[in-house]
Amino acid sequence: MGNVLVVTEVQAGELRDSATYPTISFAQRAAEASGGDVYALVPADGADDIAEEVAERGVDHVLVADDPAFDDYIAERIAPVVAEVARAIDAEVVCGPSSAQGSDYLPRTAQHLEAGMVTNGMDVWDDDGLKFKRPIWSGSVLKTVDINTPSKVVSVRTTDFDDPEATDPAPIEAVDVSIPERDDVEHVEIEIVESERPELTDADVVISGGRGLESADAFDMLEEMADLFGGAVGASRAAVDSGYAPNDWQIGQTGKVVAPGLYVAVAISGAIQHLSGMKGSQNIVAINTDEEAPIFEVADYGLVEDAFQAVPEMNEKLRELGLGED
Ligand SMILES: Cc1cc2nc3c(=O)[nH]c(=O)nc-3n(C[C@H](O)[C@H](O)[C@H](O)COP(=O)(O)OP(=O)(O)OC[C@H]3O[C@@H](n4cnc5c(N)ncnc54)[C@H](O)[C@@H]3O)c2cc1C
Repeated sequence: MGNVLVVTEVQAGELRDSATYPTISFAQRAAEASGGDVYALVPADGADDIAEEVAERGVDHVLVADDPAFDDYIAERIAPVVAEVARAIDAEVVCGPSSAQGSDYLPRTAQHLEAGMVTNGMDVWDDDGLKFKRPIWSGSVLKTVDINTPSKVVSVRTTDFDDPEATDPAPIEAVDVSIPERDDVEHVEIEIVESERPELTDADVVISGGRGLESADAFDMLEEMADLFGGAVGASRAAVDSGYAPNDWQIGQTGKVVAPGLYVAVAISGAIQHLSGMKGSQNIVAINTDEEAPIFEVADYGLVEDAFQAVPEMNEKLRELGLGED
């Protein structure tokens, strides 16, 4: 029987529930397979409210490491704390979201625990020991992984999991942890991009543009469509590299992974590295002048047309349908 430790993600004092809740769903599945309990660790400064939120999300125990040192995120500080708590609860599986933060501290946690690690974990089950599923080659191959170390660290691909059901609150317990003093690393600043639009990874509709748009100005019509839907705007790496769209809009293997209800790919060819960031979307619409473009192979609806013709017309129709009205 092995317990499962799930690390909640906190940014600027706020719970990132879009990253944390699907990770709890993974942790529940891991605990079912290992026969243990799910422990949620809340490492934060002023963690009480966050702990209460998490306690009602299907975990068995909430452990609070409340310390001002967590105010400024540093991987080198959090990784040994997670490892210490994992040892204390005899965790077989330690998991967190495969977000920027999770991808930063989880490998360090694995090193502290001398544990094997799975990145972008998509599934876990018991088959004479725990087995994990993860994508390789931009998601074109799914691999089953067996980790031979007693504790196992997993960064979870959150788009593969729904939020857990709300439950009666689990007990909350404060834990004393030794937070290492580090003078070799220092938190300088975190810049959070403010936007009226939903986070790309949370949005139910994503309107995404590619290099075929040929300018940053052309993204205006995509932003207009996103605002009519109340959605977010994304971009291919080629569009970002060409300076048409900011870095934090990039979707794909080296960008964000999204799985919205509706993904509209405008002037995007559909390279495998882009597909790996969006092919889990429920409905994919592709607009491209090239009927041979690979994006049409994954699209549910395809339109072979010039984006500069199609997108303004679609925006007009959406307005006629009353979208965008409060
Ligand atoms: C290691 C590695 C990692 C990578 N990571 C990523 C990643 O995270 N995300 C990512 O997106 N890419 C990534 N790439 C790059 C990827 O291989 C492609 O180069 C990129 O996705 C292409 O972007 P695009 O579709 O916008 O551009 P293009 O491939 O140039 O396609 C432009 C498309 O626009 C169409 N078009 C042109 N004009 C119009 C018009 N007026 N109306 C409608 N359609 C039009 C064209 O027919 C074409 O299909 C990565 C590559 C590598 C090697």
